[in-house]
This record gives sequence, structure tokens and C-alpha cells, in this order.
Amino acid sequence: MSKWQQALFAPRRVAIVGASATPGKAGHLFLSNLLKPEAGFSGEVVAIHPTATELLGAPSFPSVLLAPQPLDLAVVVTPPATVPNLIDQCAKAHVPVAVVITGGFAEAGEDGEALQRELLDVAAAGGVRIVGPNCFGVANTATGLNASLSLGLPTKGGVSLITQSGAYGMAAYSRSLETGIGFAKIVALGNKSDIDEADLLDYFAQDAETHVVAMLLEAIGDGRKLFEAIAASPKPVVVLKTGRSTGAQRAAASHTAALSGDTAVTLAALRQSGAYIAEDGLTLLDVAAALTRQPPLRGRRIGVITNSGGTGVELTDLLEARGLIVPALSPGLQAKIATALPAHGSAINPIDVTTEWARFAIMYETALLSLLHSEEVDAVAPVLLQRSALMPEVTDAVIGACKRAQSDGVNKPVHVCWVAPQGAEANREKLLKAGIPCHAWPAATATNLAATSVRKPQLRHKVTGTHAIPAPLEVNADGWLFSNDVFRLLQEAELPVAPWAVVATTDEAVKAAEKIDYPVVLKAERPGLVHKSDVGAVRTNLLDRAAVVTTFRDFCDKFGPGSALIQKQAAPGTELVVGARRDNSFGAVVMAGLGGVWIEALGDVSLRLAPIDASEALSMFEELKGLKVLKGSRGRKPVDLRDFAQLVARLSCWFCAAPWLGELDINPIIADGAAFTIVDARLRLLPVQKQESV
Ligand code: ADP
Ligand code: MG
Repeated sequence: MSKWQQALFAPRRVAIVGASATPGKAGHLFLSNLLKPEAGFSGEVVAIHPTATELLGAPSFPSVLLAPQPLDLAVVVTPPATVPNLIDQCAKAHVPVAVVITGGFAEAGEDGEALQRELLDVAAAGGVRIVGPNCFGVANTATGLNASLSLGLPTKGGVSLITQSGAYGMAAYSRSLETGIGFAKIVALGNKSDIDEADLLDYFAQDAETHVVAMLLEAIGDGRKLFEAIAASPKPVVVLKTGRSTGAQRAAASHTAALSGDTAVTLAALRQSGAYIAEDGLTLLDVAAALTRQPPLRGRRIGVITNSGGTGVELTDLLEARGLIVPALSPGLQAKIATALPAHGSAINPIDVTTEWARFAIMYETALLSLLHSEEVDAVAPVLLQRSALMPEVTDAVIGACKRAQSDGVNKPVHVCWVAPQGAEANREKLLKAGIPCHAWPAATATNLAATSVRKPQLRHKVTGTHAIPAPLEVNADGWLFSNDVFRLLQEAELPVAPWAVVATTDEAVKAAEKIDYPVVLKAERPGLVHKSDVGAVRTNLLDRAAVVTTFRDFCDKFGPGSALIQKQAAPGTELVVGARRDNSFGAVVMAGLGGVWIEALGDVSLRLAPIDASEALSMFEELKGLKVLKGSRGRKPVDLRDFAQLVARLSCWFCAAPWLGELDINPIIADGAAFTIVDARLRLLPVQKQESV
């Protein structure tokens, strides 16, 4: 564990720089939060104030340089202009880490940005690590440290929260009181000028009190670093990403650019990293808490037990809408459960115990135990609704069944769907204490259960044995390579390119056609001509010399004089797309999906950070809505997915070995079973200033 990590969470002595005895000031709030007896902070608190000798009972000094040593943590709340100098003093006093609460830095325009740079320079020169600026603070329930704006310390537990926004730092406290979510550490990163999520994940990996990390991200700085850190985390990481891209809209000159925008890449990278993904803040905290209480969901089959047929059906709908299934149980298992049910009950799944409340306890217990012990479901969601929620013996039966199954070695999640009056509160608390999550109403139950589906980081493939590929010398004004270079490079990469030639006259065209052999395809090449088939610049099925000559002349009439690309015509098949580009934050990204004319209408593609190996490429195809088309629906020959995966993986490695390449768009590559032919491809150089930073 590094020095700043220890100092940030378990400081022996903390200084509030800018402390105040005046209520309403930040310097007062931070000082009093740290001194609150109920927090029970185990370290010592000192105030830094120009004149005071004591504030709220804490000793006060005019500067960190005059405070007692060692000083592990400085919390800075003074006006922005004073901060760089104060951090310099921290450096001289050997303070390893400072939390800068003060706003007015990079978030506040150009002057603020300059001030933030100054702050960082001073900090880096003096060896002080920075949390913030413009942040909510830090809390650690184990040491009673509340160096934050929070109203109080949340209850102790296994969730550590990293939040960019202070709002969820605040919410942690109230959620812990309302729903019993226990927290270990809370860190708000604000502007993330220095310490970021990846640095904290590294610490949480070793922190015994942290079992699950919840992370609220607004902006992502170094996406690749974050991706690597989540993938390396030995503990589950639940992420909520808020905010749309504010970057300039990329001109959609290629399908790859249009379909791999910032939000799509971020989500793909988070999934690939193995993060659990939440779509809202409440779910973020609830899923994190659920993962501290229950194992993740290792399959899709859910058993539902309910005392309301209607709610059972509603929950089933909502689970299935989220990709889970509520399977009909086998006759054997039904018979076993039916022994406990009244004649008009249903043991099919959802299991309806009916309103026969006198027997609720035994019916819930039998059904729950049978489901947990069976091989037919991966999780159970008992609905406790009104009367069943109010009856303590039902709560006890659910808890008892879970315990028994657990002692029999069953390790399946149980999540209660809680639809109850206020009077049932004590029962809910009992369930939570026993480690059984209670989600309010069916929608939250389905959302939470689905979000705990087990995630495994996809191990990334290392590029080995590839030498850097040299960049061609000539490109057009927008940085696109000429087609001769495009097809030559792809061919050198051992990718299956249709035999081609670039021709400038009818004579050359005829000669090339004869060499390539008919049927051929002719495509007009003119500067700025991008979507060729839209304007009639692609003619397929040219069967002889005459057709080639006529078509070449037609192109000259229509588009003015110029050259043409001549290609061997590929056998008909399924048109696929493969692309890649370099994202500013995440680096190389690869894309694959259904191509040809469908791409604009469907945009059915899947993304991964590159490079990838063939097994990961295979997992990309599973995400496509058009997977059935690839597998050969309605008499179509199936695409050999293993071969296609090899091809996508090879292409991703090749792209990574060509750091000068900004964008690659192959559309289509035509698949005829296991035969693949690239018939259209575009490559663009990375702008020079970006090439330097790759
Ligand atoms: P663009 O994308 O600029 O419109 P393409 O070169 O992709 O032009 O051609 C458009 C369509 O023509 C392709 O999607 C494919 O259906 C067909 N096509 C193009 N070249 C060939 C070829 N060599 N063999 C078979 N079909 C082709
Ligand atoms: Mg095309």
C-alpha cells in the first residue's frame, strides 16, 4: 500500500486548512464533522487559521509548517487563488496527500484551468498527491474519518463508493440509514486532477474492508487506464456512467466513426472490463449492496414464488424484458413443490402459493428450498406482498431456508421482491440483516437481479510477433489512403482482398479485367466520392470486354475524367462490416457486425477495445441482433463464425501494429460460408499531432 493511500484513509493527524468557528462556513463544517464524537475518529484533528490558537476545541496553527508532525492529510477549503501556495507549504511539511474541496478550477473556465495546472505543478514538484479540487471529500467508516460535506458517516459495510459528484456522497449517508447499505470508504474525486478511479481501485483491491466498489463516472479521463484497472480488480466493480459526449460530433464519413461514438465505446469498454453496469444512481448503490450480500447471478433462470398471481406475472414480464427467464419447472420438481400448495395453487413457475395465508410459512419454505436445491434455476425471487410481508414467521421461513441451503453448499442468490406496508419494516430489517436484499416492487427487483449477472473481464490479447507497419507516403486531402494502398496493405496483412487493379483508361481496364477474369465489378474513383453506390458509381456483373468499356466511358461522362477500381466479383453471400478506430480516451477500438446496405438502417454492430483474440471476437457476434442472419436463416448459407472471428482478431492486431492509422472501415466483406472477400475498404491516417501521442 502506498504512503498516500494509507495517509488518505487512515491519517494519524489531519489538518483543516481554512478552518473556521463560524457556522455556515465550509471551514466550520469540515472541522465539526471531523470532531463529531459519534463519528469516533481515531486520529488527531488540527485547525489551520491565521490567528486562532484553538477552534471548536481543536488546536489551531497559522500554517501547516507550524503544526505538529507528522501531518498525514490536509483538507483544503480556502479560496482558489490561495490553494497553490498552501499546497507548496504542505509539500514543505511533508504532507503526502491533500483533499482540495475548493471549487473554481478547471470546471470554471480558462483562468480556473490555469490555476489547476499551477496547483498540479506545485503538488507534483513537492510530492503531494491531490484528491479534487472541487470535491465533496473523503470518508472512512473504519477509522471514523468524515473529511467530507456529508451530514454524517454512513453505517459500516462492504461497499466503497467512488463518485465524481458530491450528490451521491451525500446520498450514501441517507441510503445507509434507509436501506441498510453499509459503506467502507467514500471518495469524491471532483475534477480528478491527480488521483483518479484507477488509483483508488488499486487501493481497494488490497483494502480488507472493501468487498464491492461502486463507481459513479461523469467524465472519463484516461479510459484505457480505467479499463485496465477494472479488469484487474479482484472485487466486483459496479459502474454508473452519466453524461453524454460533449466532444464535437464526428463527421460521419465512415460507418465506423458513426457507430463507435464516445458513449458506445465507453459502454463496450465497461462491459469488456467486467464491470457490473447500473443505469441510475439508486440501482448503483443497491446492486453494490446486493453483491456484498449475495453471490452474483451465474445463469439466466429465475424461480419466482408469490402470494399474488398478478405480481408474479408482472415480475416475470419484467425479468424476461431484462434478458432473464422464468422457466417452467420439470414435472418432478413441480410435484415436490405442489405437496405444500393448495389444490388451486400453481407450481409451474411463477409459483403461486395463493392467498391461503395460514400456510404461507411452510409453502414459502418448501418452494424456496426445493428451488435452491434444484438444478433448474440460478436464483430465486420470493415476492413478499402485503400479508406475507407482515407475517414474521414467513420472514423467518425465508431466512431459515436460505441458511439451510447455504449450509448444504448451495450458493445461489435470493432477492426478495418487497411490496409491503410500513408495519412490516421490522421484517425487512431482519431480512437485510440476514444478507437477503429486499427490493421495493417488481421493477426494482428485476433491474437489480439482472444487473448482478456475473461479469468476467475479457482477457485482452497481446499483440505479439507483429512489427510496426510503415505508413504509406501519399494520402488525399482528408487523410484517406488511395485504394491501391488500402488493398495492398490489407493483402500484406493476409486479409482476403478481392483481386483488384486501379485503371486510368479503357485499355487498362480491359487488360486488367482479362487478367482478373470475368465477372468483374467497376467502381468510379473521384476525389470526395464516398458512398459510391448511392450515385451509381458501382457496376457489378460485368461479363465481357464490351461491358467494361461501356461502363468505364459511362463513368467519364457522368463524373468527368478519372480512374476506376476494377475488382473480381465475389460470389453472393452475407455482407459483413469490420472497422476500427483510435478513440481519444480508450485507444484502439474494433467493430464488427452486419454490413452492406443494412448498416445505415440497422447499425447492428458490436465493439471491443483492441486488440482482441478470436474467442473474444466470437463473443462480439453473440451481441448482434442479426446473429440469426449470420447463422443462416431462411436458406442462407451460415457464415463460418469461427473463421470470421479469426479474421476480426487478426485485423484488430494489425490495426494496433499500425499506430499511424486512425480509422479503418471495411464494408462489405462478403461471406460465402467460410470464404470471405473484402470488396470495399477505407483507411485514414491519424492527424499528425495525435500520432505523436500514440
Ligand atoms: P459503397 O459502399 O461506396 O457504396 P461498395 O464498394 O461497398 O460501395 O459497393 C456497394 C455494394 O456493391 C456492396 O455492398 C456489394 O453488395 C456490391 N459489390 C461491390 N463490390 C463487389 C464485388 N467485388 N463483388 C461483389 N459485390 C460487390
Ligand atoms: Mg461499401
